[in-house]
Amino acid sequence: MKRRAILFSAPSGSGKTTIIKRLMQHFDFFEFSISATSRQPREGERDGVDYYFLTPDEFMKEVEAGQFLEWEEVYADVRYGTLKSEIERICAKGKVVVFDVDVNGGINIKRFFGDDALAIFVMPPSIEVLEQRLRHRGTESEESIQKRLGRSAKELGEAHRFDVTIVNDNLDDAVEQTKRTITEWLSRDEEES
Ligand code: ADP
Ligand code: 5GP
Repeated sequence: MKRRAILFSAPSGSGKTTIIKRLMQHFDFFEFSISATSRQPREGERDGVDYYFLTPDEFMKEVEAGQFLEWEEVYADVRYGTLKSEIERICAKGKVVVFDVDVNGGINIKRFFGDDALAIFVMPPSIEVLEQRLRHRGTESEESIQKRLGRSAKELGEAHRFDVTIVNDNLDDAVEQTKRTITEWLSRDEEES
């Protein structure tokens, strides 16, 4: 069975969820890997669609049972992880697995998939714009915004570990550039197989 994956990592607020949603409408053979998290759902988020929302205890039980390909305590006491069962479920259908993970998770998943994954780093135009976007999204408390910004500088320094960097300044341009990059990568992959 051929495994193919596209993973997106970026500091929180860069726009990766927005870009992924647009791509999912364009590429019908993409399927999103739904992560597990111990955070509370935001307004409008649905269990089993955006995330599998687990209590901290449930999350740690899954860790102990070896159910995760990778997991991270992305923020103090808030954990996120990629379930092995998601990858199996999606690959079994012959679809391309799409991941939205933090930078460490992205590096780990790329290591797991190797050349079968395209690792994309979504770069905000600047830290100032990143902060504006996080505030404008209106989903985070001040404490959560500060936690997210606190990680950003370090995460931006890891961009070189990814296959490509897309600067998300104008959204339409970023989506188009991402589509072109993915199409090129998939066609190269077809030629080789
Ligand atoms: P992430 O998933 O990386 O945390 P989101 O996709 O939630 O980021 O985007 C953060 C906020 O920025 C959202 O309110 C989104 O609508 C907005 N946004 C995303 N891309 C752009 C863009 N290119 N220009 C302006 N606002 C954007
Ligand atoms: P949010 O709370 O904004 O949905 O996500 C916060 C961060 O956790 C984002 O950087 C997101 O990409 C990351 N994340 C989501 N799911 C996973 C996962 O399964 N593994 C890892 N390592 N990070 C994840």
